[in-house]
Amino acid sequence: MAKVIDGKAFAEGLRGRIARAVETLKTRHGFTPGLAVVLVGEDPASKVYVANKARQTVEAGMNSWEHKLAAETSEADVLALVEKLNSDPAVHGILVQLPLPRQIDSMKVLAAISPAKDVDGFHVVNVGKLSTGQDSLVPCTPVGSVMLAKAVLGPLDGLEAVVIGRSNIVGKPVAQLLLAENCTVTIAHSKTRDLPGVVRRADLVIAAVGRPEMVKGDWLKPGATVIDVGINRIERGGKGKLVGDCDYASCEKVAGAITPVPGGVGPMTIACLLYNTLKAACAARGIDQPAM
Ligand code: NAD
Repeated sequence: MAKVIDGKAFAEGLRGRIARAVETLKTRHGFTPGLAVVLVGEDPASKVYVANKARQTVEAGMNSWEHKLAAETSEADVLALVEKLNSDPAVHGILVQLPLPRQIDSMKVLAAISPAKDVDGFHVVNVGKLSTGQDSLVPCTPVGSVMLAKAVLGPLDGLEAVVIGRSNIVGKPVAQLLLAENCTVTIAHSKTRDLPGVVRRADLVIAAVGRPEMVKGDWLKPGATVIDVGINRIERGGKGKLVGDCDYASCEKVAGAITPVPGGVGPMTIACLLYNTLKAACAARGIDQPAM
């Protein structure tokens, strides 16, 4: 049976280290990192995410601001708020919760965030820096996924990694990170031929598809490490349930290690958001990040 990769415990440890680093910044440098989150509309899942982000930001000792705007807010008003946050020196990180209502062009809003405060790592400047091997703010879920893989495998040099999914939010940045870790990376997607055959080559599989339990145990090379990014809500036995993109029951029999859903990659995302806020705050102040 595969080793279960406990993302919840790992994220808790990371949040603890971040909180200690924040404390050091306060006492040694007299400032507090701050994260502003912008939520437009009433999407129930987004409201839960934003509330969790705010709570964990405060728990880490950072300042947290929540800007909740009505669903009918114009694009111009969202852009004006982003501009205000860009020029506020107390705000080190800005996160605009996606998806945005239809009247607002997400790409335009993401492009308006100062790259130095872009703690989601979605700005083209940060995307470009990541793909050219420069230090940058990197999307949170990919960072968390690679941290978990390294926690199990140690250095990833030379490993065959297969990323399933090519989104800007997960697939592409996770592939860039794995490349930077010296993996041989294959990105599979909806048009990939013989997906099971491609996955079977992998020492490390990162699934970010959004299709419940798609990856089966017999697709895996025995002993492979499986990082399941998918979060899918399904009905089973008359009850709602969260499952990943991997069929856990069959995969755990073949994999060497696997992340559960929930409790795997999910908790890492906010922990990495706090990490990015700390990083942005230190960079804004021109000081080294405290050791963690
Ligand atoms: P997306 O819909 O933007 O991208 C999905 C990708 O999967 C696409 O690139 C597509 O080519 C590929 N794909 C679709 N069907 C496929 C198939 N049959 N075979 C192979 N590839 C296929 O999704 P996303 O935003 O990248 O999210 C992926 C999953 O990760 C979702 O379940 C999402 O909920 C989850 N997610 C979790 C976190 C977190 O843990 N905090 C964060 C972001 C996304």
